[in-house]
Amino acid sequence: MSASARSRTEGPTTARAWVAKGPKQPIVLETVELGPLGAEDVQVAVEHCGLCHSDVSVLNNEWGISQFPAVLGHEVVGRVTAVGPGAKGLSVGQRVGVGWTAGSDMHCRQCLSGNHHLCPRAQPTIIGHRGGFATHVRAHWAWAIPLPDGLNVADAGPLLCGGITVFAPLTMYVKPTERVGVVGIGGLGHMALKFAAAYGCDVTAFTSSEGKFEEARGFGANHVVSSKDPAAVRKVAGTLDLVISTVNAKMDWDALIGTLAPNGRLHVVGVVPEPIPVPVFPLIAGQRSVSGSPTGSPVAIATMLDFAARHHVAPQTEHFPMNKINEAFARLESGKARYRIVLDADF
Ligand code: NAP
Ligand code: ZN
Repeated sequence: MSASARSRTEGPTTARAWVAKGPKQPIVLETVELGPLGAEDVQVAVEHCGLCHSDVSVLNNEWGISQFPAVLGHEVVGRVTAVGPGAKGLSVGQRVGVGWTAGSDMHCRQCLSGNHHLCPRAQPTIIGHRGGFATHVRAHWAWAIPLPDGLNVADAGPLLCGGITVFAPLTMYVKPTERVGVVGIGGLGHMALKFAAAYGCDVTAFTSSEGKFEEARGFGANHVVSSKDPAAVRKVAGTLDLVISTVNAKMDWDALIGTLAPNGRLHVVGVVPEPIPVPVFPLIAGQRSVSGSPTGSPVAIATMLDFAARHHVAPQTEHFPMNKINEAFARLESGKARYRIVLDADF
């Protein structure tokens, strides 16, 4: 076999990985066996990986779907180090990003119509598959998205999950002339403010943290409302065309639905632990909707990355070396992260 053919098909067969052995357990560094690389997969040497609240929820098994031992991390940026014989469009050395999804079946109606993120057999990067808090991560070639020039590589990771999750509803549901609200100004929420402002919308931030009011304006919010103050929320009643909720906590949903203009939409991307009560009268009378969505397809991610590069949309980050992973999880859980934590590979 020639040297170039070898580099196409082979990579390291073991990785160093930060492993969660069980729910709420400290994460420990181990060597893991990777096994053979899938024919259509690529292997990526991790450079940076963002820390999303979904990593915390999977670590704590809040959704009951975690599989331990787990290697978390699904906002990966790195370089391709090996390419399976059936993988297309990528070469060794290329810089790519991998988000929440590491693969999909590529033959169902959803994949064939470009909605790969809705594939019933989509493979989440961190559930039953090893994620990016490791030396290497693997993904189907279609889900390893080439990074465009012009992005700061060290801060691009959070775009791969948090970024696409809030960008997709903007492109699906609003015009740049419309009014967008963002509820919860954390990792997803602060990127939503930046994307909605760059998209051209009039932007209202809803935050429960007074300390974030000024920074929310800096991210592009034209208006800031306390999500804890029912009178303040009522002041913007009937005005918003799209409200993107990124919170993972119970809210005054009546008041938030009340902020929608006729034809308006409350779009939920934050995983709220309890059902959201939806009074039907405002929906019927104002033709309003309540909806949700998961991240986006590979093409939607690539489009978002191009938009981010062109409009200089980047998360505001705090960097930790990966060996401080447990401190990083604790900081995100405490609500102190401003606004997205990124772990830098330091193996
Ligand atoms: P995060 O950085 O922790 O931000 C969540 C924000 O919600 C907080 O900054 C806070 O904003 C607000 N919040 C938290 N607790 C609250 C409370 N008790 N009352 C009111 N507001 C509260 O988390 P994230 O990484 O952005 O993730 C947010 C959610 O999205 C998580 O549930 C995550 O699992 C989910 N997610 C979903 C998808 C998807 O595909 N749909 C993708 C990625 C993440 P303020 O301080 O401004 O109030
Ligand atoms: Zn995520």
